[in-house]
Amino acid sequence: MVDELLAFEQPRPRFPPALADSLRRRMEEALAPVADALDRPLRVGKHDISSVHTCEAYFRAEKDSFAWAPRNSYGAIAHRALRLSISMRDDPAPLDLVDMAIDAYVDDDQGDGGLGRYLRTASPLDLGELRAQANDVVFQFLECFPPLQRDWRPRTDTPILVKLCGERVSLRGRPDLAFGQARGEEAGVLIVDLKTGWSYPHHFDDLRFYALLQTLKTGVPPYRVASYYLDSATFHHEEVTAGILEIAAGRAVDGIRKIARLLQQEGPAAITPGPTCRWCRLRDECDGPGQLPERDD
Ligand code: SF4
Repeated sequence: MVDELLAFEQPRPRFPPALADSLRRRMEEALAPVADALDRPLRVGKHDISSVHTCEAYFRAEKDSFAWAPRNSYGAIAHRALRLSISMRDDPAPLDLVDMAIDAYVDDDQGDGGLGRYLRTASPLDLGELRAQANDVVFQFLECFPPLQRDWRPRTDTPILVKLCGERVSLRGRPDLAFGQARGEEAGVLIVDLKTGWSYPHHFDDLRFYALLQTLKTGVPPYRVASYYLDSATFHHEEVTAGILEIAAGRAVDGIRKIARLLQQEGPAAITPGPTCRWCRLRDECDGPGQLPERDD
């Protein structure tokens, strides 16, 4: 994995500064009408873009009634635990790291949209469930991913914030893992997203979104983005090119337009039946699931 994924010894591509400048300028031009019509600044993350492209009605339902639960909180706990695993000098057990991460959130009222408040009041059953799931993630990572070396410059959950259109529109992301650093025009960053379960095509879109953010923030794209699948200890990766960044920028602009329209409650939200119907909170009242082919399993 060190040779094939991290590939530290391989030559890195170079990108002219004009690439990032051009992406930013064209995104701001395309988003100007949206930004002008906003009644408050719009903050958009990877999950928002992914949800709205998956199904507009799903996006609106999630926005309207988001609530922390074990299934959507264990990832944040696990990532904070992994962050601690990099920075602590001794070698705590995965569950100890998870408990330290939970304690850190409980002490932090402001972070992650009220996750600390949820953890303080979660039932023992919910708390046990999310501890178990977060422990699985941390254990599987430490079991199979190469031990992180200091000179790889590893970071976990590093926030990337990109402000567009005079801060009327902000894009934000927190890649699970990042390594390396650009040197001048030479790319030097690898971004890795940790995944549980199966591989899906939209995982490439998520990675490209991170590549776009890194490019707009630093002016130099990552050389590569990758998904690492904890259940199978496998990965897929993609080299970052100008073409990929163009696709990511177009998808982000398109998503932001949809999000702005939906948040302003303008018009109906389109439904797009797909795998998301299985866990969508609207599945009992929506026509979408009935339009799906029957599953063999
Ligand atoms: S059930 Fe499916 S089609 Fe209907 S809103 Fe949810 S994800 Fe969209």
